[in-house]
Amino acid sequence: MTDTTPRCRFCDALLRHVFIDLGLSPLANRNLRADEVATEKKYPLIVRVCETCLLVQADEYAAPDEIFSDYDYLSSTSSGWMAHARAYCSAMAKRFRLGADSIVVEIASNDGYLLHNFVEMGVPVLGVEPARNVADIAIAAGVPTEAVFFGVETAREIAERGRKADLMVANNVLAHAPNTRDFVGGFAELLAPEGVATFEFPHVMNLIDQVQFDTIYHEHFFYLSLYAVEKIMASQGLRVFDVDELPTHGGSLRLFVCHDAAAHPPTPALDRLRACERAKRLDTVDGYLGFETRAAKVKADFLAFLARAEGEGKVVAGYGAAAKGSTFLNYCGVGAPRLVEIYDRSATKQGKLAPGSHIPIYDPACARKTKPDYVVILPWNIADEVRESLAYISEWGGKFVTAVPEPRIYEAD
Ligand SMILES: [Zn+2]
Repeated sequence: MTDTTPRCRFCDALLRHVFIDLGLSPLANRNLRADEVATEKKYPLIVRVCETCLLVQADEYAAPDEIFSDYDYLSSTSSGWMAHARAYCSAMAKRFRLGADSIVVEIASNDGYLLHNFVEMGVPVLGVEPARNVADIAIAAGVPTEAVFFGVETAREIAERGRKADLMVANNVLAHAPNTRDFVGGFAELLAPEGVATFEFPHVMNLIDQVQFDTIYHEHFFYLSLYAVEKIMASQGLRVFDVDELPTHGGSLRLFVCHDAAAHPPTPALDRLRACERAKRLDTVDGYLGFETRAAKVKADFLAFLARAEGEGKVVAGYGAAAKGSTFLNYCGVGAPRLVEIYDRSATKQGKLAPGSHIPIYDPACARKTKPDYVVILPWNIADEVRESLAYISEWGGKFVTAVPEPRIYEAD
């Protein structure tokens, strides 16, 4: 151990345990134009676990504004995720009796796909979205949105201009906010005394169990357990009082959080999840060791599948030009033409090249021309949705494949 050992972003302890080292990797959401390939940067992608607070975290590598200022991810390109958001809004409106005199604030509100549901119910909303180009899309769609980074200072400004929030929504953003104390402190500032904040994030327990190393990328700073998040909330005068376990992103948690002094009673579900994490030893560093070896096995198995397919003269393509695919293909060292092309429904990605692997990204309709024998579904969490929308590949005998946690070839129904 040397002086260069990084320190925990939350509790400042030295991070002496590597969870996984994924080597040099480009920014996973940065699809490239052809003229950007030569200047593409790569950064070490190393994740460590803090032995003191058990927060699993990626090393620092670049300024966040380089990541968030302008990116081409829009949530509303996944129909499954849209349905998830709609169901969430109805459930919250009912459980917490939200109406015309309530205010819902969403942090990292993207293109407004979620808040739009509250707008339709007549519940006033405010979106906070740091990417200017994405915020503008939300505003154009009728969802009031501010293009700022969220933290204590911006939360105070928003609270001073209006009322405190009855519901605050933070879906898949807690893990992406590097200054976690300031970020969570913003919720303490803006939340009404009896208000509720919900935080959704992929559960590190599933990441470990299912070897989901491809959910690791630079913009994803934290890999969260209930154990670590309860410590983070407590540091800001907040507490978790309920939890839902969700199938999204390979297994996520939705934590319900309120002020320490609020009336919301803790639920049995919260106790059950605490016990479950203890049983998996996620409250000790032992629960996090040995992961890298298991990821190497997934890589070896996928490379063996590819070699076999190539030996048989098969054409292999990919689906989903998103972060999971970037991490996965870079860790496996697979580029074009081993995967001839990647299909993606998002028009802003089509015509670009995937980060690192530089595999061209095309409209899924191009599959009809290429007629791949295998389509590797990179975002395995939406495998069912992809298999349905590209079912026509069976017309020429094409088959779907997923690679995590082990290679699986889907036989035609
Ligand atoms: Zn720590």
